[in-house]
Amino acid sequence: DLRMMQEVVLGIGGCRLVEMLDLDVDVFHLNEGHAAFAVLERTRQFMRRTGLDFRAALAAVRAGNVFTTHTPVAAGFDAFGPDLIRKYFRWIEDFVRDVGISMKELLALGRRDAEDMSEPFNMAWLAMRGSLAANGVSRLHGAVSRRLFAGLFPRWPESEVPVGHVTNGVHVPFWDSPWADRIWTETCGKRRWRGEIGALEPAMACVPDEAIWSFKSLERRDLVEHARRRLACDLSERGAPPEAVARAAEVLDPDRLTLGFARRFTAYKRPGLLLRDPDRLLRILTDPQRPVQIIVAGKAHPDDAAGKRLIEAWVAFALRKELRGHVVFLEDYDIELAQQLVQGVDLWINTPERPWEASGTSGMKVLVNGGLNLSTLDGWWAEAYAPEVGWAIGGGRGGPEADARDAGELYALLEKGIVPGFYDRDASGVPRAWIARVRASMARLAPAFSSNRMLRDYVERAYLPAAEAFARRAGQGGAEARALEEWSRRLTQHWPHVRFDGTEVRREGEEWLFTAPVRLGGLAPDEVEVELYAAPAAPTEAAPVRIPMACVRLLAGEAYLFRAAAPASRPAEHYTPRILPRRDGLRLPAELPLILWQR
Ligand SMILES: *Cc1c(COP(=O)(O)O)cnc(C)c1O
Repeated sequence: DLRMMQEVVLGIGGCRLVEMLDLDVDVFHLNEGHAAFAVLERTRQFMRRTGLDFRAALAAVRAGNVFTTHTPVAAGFDAFGPDLIRKYFRWIEDFVRDVGISMKELLALGRRDAEDMSEPFNMAWLAMRGSLAANGVSRLHGAVSRRLFAGLFPRWPESEVPVGHVTNGVHVPFWDSPWADRIWTETCGKRRWRGEIGALEPAMACVPDEAIWSFKSLERRDLVEHARRRLACDLSERGAPPEAVARAAEVLDPDRLTLGFARRFTAYKRPGLLLRDPDRLLRILTDPQRPVQIIVAGKAHPDDAAGKRLIEAWVAFALRKELRGHVVFLEDYDIELAQQLVQGVDLWINTPERPWEASGTSGMKVLVNGGLNLSTLDGWWAEAYAPEVGWAIGGGRGGPEADARDAGELYALLEKGIVPGFYDRDASGVPRAWIARVRASMARLAPAFSSNRMLRDYVERAYLPAAEAFARRAGQGGAEARALEEWSRRLTQHWPHVRFDGTEVRREGEEWLFTAPVRLGGLAPDEVEVELYAAPAAPTEAAPVRIPMACVRLLAGEAYLFRAAAPASRPAEHYTPRILPRRDGLRLPAELPLILWQR
């Protein structure tokens, strides 16, 4: 009930607020399904303004809604029992009667199967049905989301499920240190994060090693001071003896390789992975020639017993005598602490279990500050990683052995590559190869994973197309939306009568010639798209092959002959003729998930 009320306030209340403020908004961006009731309220407002019926009004406002999904697990979507929806949608001024649809129709918007009366009402399904553009928050999460939403588009190939991606980014000026700000300003100017960011990469690629090394050392010094002060505070709040509080001033060392590991302590983040072999970690940290230190911060949900145990394990590890101030655990991980950490660390470690990290953003925050990343190939790191900019574990695989394998790779990378690399100095004391990575990471990744790039993607790929589509649909009292809705209804009625009447294939030179007689059951040949479909030839190719079949003549009894040629470089069995609805401006399969396969 509480969640339901929150989402009513957010979606319906939010949409009414926008109306009462007289903001003439073309595009609503639904971030996560929580706000999806806005689809219903926006439709109702549009009905009132135009006199359209519910389905036609929905066809109009849908064009102006953008949906971003943020979770890689179906359990992350809110779903309400049908009774809760009934209760609240009567209560909200009898919403259902007001818009003139049945409760069953309303519930169908949040169900995979409209006829299944026990199916809960899923907010993500409503958001998907109420938007023309949908995206995940990283490339990998886009692919994972296509699988999660595939059930709404029966018989459509997963690659065509209409979910793209816009990878997250961070607001760089909020996360950079004063020292980083200075070097970026000298190199790229004060207005670097306004407008075009394409020139930043080549400019940063020219910064001298010495300049990078010295600003990074200043950042590390600041972090060590912050951490000592914060640790002293934590200790005295916990009632530790004055000697222990005083000793906090001696932990850490501003010249040591400094690792950062901070997150919510939830299972998929695997906050225990680094601690899997505590003695091996201890040896890495306390090597007298090449000492390493780690600052750990975290919070667990009050009800998460496993998360709390992992925090205790880190606190206990930090107290081991042999470590002598090489490990600090800081409580109450919040934005301020995050700022200090991401500004000062040399290496940010992230160990999510693939593919449960939709994007992840904490690792992006170190980029501008010259910190490097070591992470699982999940979320944003799956598309950002290259050997020149950081390190990866897990090789893009998950599975039951993932923990042991990933921990082994993590230790080995630290022992063989990362720690020796940081301490490999030239005559002037500068770690040249390390700095080369830092420079590449700053130049290439900081702009690419900034909110500037993200916002530009949203504007170009989602907001502007949505504003245009909405204007076309909603103009003239929604005439186009009404025509589209009437057409969709007619097409859906005729669809069961559409069928293939056998297909012939013969070889002509280097091509297969396909001919297919098709019965259209009352539809005109230009109302459908008949095409040859072949799955991508290699897993590395994203797009399937689609070759339109042309209508060449009318056969007897509402049947038409369609024809197309396909390259004979692939066997004829790879191609399957299929039929889809076709209409200008219609977005498939988002709006009308009809499809007919010849086999
Ligand atoms: C950035 C940030 C997060 C999110 O980090 P992820 O890597 O996306 O999980 C969580 N908490 C705080 C305080 C942060 O600053």
